[in-house]
Amino acid sequence: MNAISMNLVTLFYLVASVCFIQALKGLSSPSSARLGNAFGMAGMAIAVLTTIALMLKLQERLQQGGGLGFGLVLLGVVVGGAIGATAAKKVEMTKMPELVAAMHSLIGLAAVCIAIAAVSEPWAFNITTQGEPLPFGNRLELFIGTFVGAVTFSGSVIAFGKLSGKYKFRLFQGAPVRFAGQHILNLLVAIAIGALGLVFCFADGLEPAWGAFIVMAALAFVLGVLIIIPIGGADMPVVVSMLNSYSGWAAAGIGFSLNNAMLIIAGSLVGSSGAILSYIMCKAMNRSFFNVLLGGFGGEAVADAGGAKEQRPVKSGSAEDAAFILQNAESVIIVPGYGLAVARAQHTVKELVDKLTAHGVTVRYAIHPVAGRMPGHMNVLLAEAEVPYDQVAEMEDINGEFGQTDVVLVLGANDVVNPAAKDPKSAIAGMPILEAYRAKSIIVNKRSMASGYAGLDNDLFYQPNTMMVFGDAKKVIEAMVKAVD
Ligand code: NDP
Repeated sequence: MNAISMNLVTLFYLVASVCFIQALKGLSSPSSARLGNAFGMAGMAIAVLTTIALMLKLQERLQQGGGLGFGLVLLGVVVGGAIGATAAKKVEMTKMPELVAAMHSLIGLAAVCIAIAAVSEPWAFNITTQGEPLPFGNRLELFIGTFVGAVTFSGSVIAFGKLSGKYKFRLFQGAPVRFAGQHILNLLVAIAIGALGLVFCFADGLEPAWGAFIVMAALAFVLGVLIIIPIGGADMPVVVSMLNSYSGWAAAGIGFSLNNAMLIIAGSLVGSSGAILSYIMCKAMNRSFFNVLLGGFGGEAVADAGGAKEQRPVKSGSAEDAAFILQNAESVIIVPGYGLAVARAQHTVKELVDKLTAHGVTVRYAIHPVAGRMPGHMNVLLAEAEVPYDQVAEMEDINGEFGQTDVVLVLGANDVVNPAAKDPKSAIAGMPILEAYRAKSIIVNKRSMASGYAGLDNDLFYQPNTMMVFGDAKKVIEAMVKAVD
């Protein structure tokens, strides 16, 4: 068989890279997200097929060396692909961050495994010829790849446990785990890893310094756990995005060693997009990245929220009252939030909006960048219900219009409409909010007066022009749909 030429491999990797860039571009807007996904899938298919062709080429070259376990690789592709496809199909939207955390843990582990294989048989990866020691530059790259990969793996496993909230294990609990001297311990472990890395990189002789390498990898796994346990469960989506970034850099690091342009490009794209996403999320919550890492209101504040609360009168009404107000309005803005996603009421909302629109009411949805529990959560939710994109407006575009709007319908949202953000003393001071409080009248649906993610009371609920409609979003909206004639 004629093996693929290296020029063709480079060309196909370039095409795959362009597909990945197009995928990221497409994913930046709901209307182009499907196309973006298609580009991503095409890019990945090209990258995997090209890599298989490249392996066949290497196998021919290494025939006497016993081959590359090609069958095992194919088995991995089939089994891994099947598990990934089933998990992605089954996962609920609100559970997406934990699926992403689980996937990142595997990327980190894969980086560690590849680094171990490359250190043990560098000639099989085209890094050296047999009998030649691993050059310093490659050792450094493999050390960095292993370190970042191991931190990503164990950190993502803890993030997964905290997000799922299903496991009794203390480290998987949402509450932060803190102890005296924690930061010093982290620093000492990091210094030890650095020192062992230097031993590994500078060791003489043909045999790599396995002892230093293995202890360094083990300490990196421990560091991953230590970094993530003090962070509150509610801050995990930001952490997952940060780990996403790490996993990309780990892949890029390994790509340099393997001289694989695809890994370098794809890894850098994941690394930089994850870092940008973490930045955007922090900005939209008005928090510094440092503040998230050191644990902020995602931790104790949420626990505190259950405590004594000021008793203030609120006006409440039925779903039928709300339906009456909505169908007699000229303009309505709907603010969807985390509760809407939990109730899976997006299809019912669409039904309600269709009925209201038939009554001549102008209805739009206002999307806050961190509504829900992951970036783009509300966009995805509304896209699932096939809400037309022109009805959906981003915060910056719609905030100026609340003052002229007859009714704002807040569905399972809390923090993203909390006017406390305007108070410099509040825990969410400075967080940009959807200015629902400016509307002529406000209807809020949630199950109780409980606080949201930030654990804060919300003055919007006590405004004289606000009516609370208590109950599960799906049931309440279904009742509204029935009541609109
Ligand atoms: P919040 O978490 O502030 O509030 C959601 C509200 O939904 C709760 O107050 C809850 O009240 C209500 N609710 C829950 N279940 C239901 C249900 N079945 N039916 C009706 N209501 C329900 O959500 P927001 O979307 O307003 O804000 C998101 C928060 O998450 C922000 O603070 C943001 O910073 C944070 N965050 C967002 C991330 C992202 O990427 N999107 C990542 C990390 C954090 P009740 O229990 O009374 O029903």
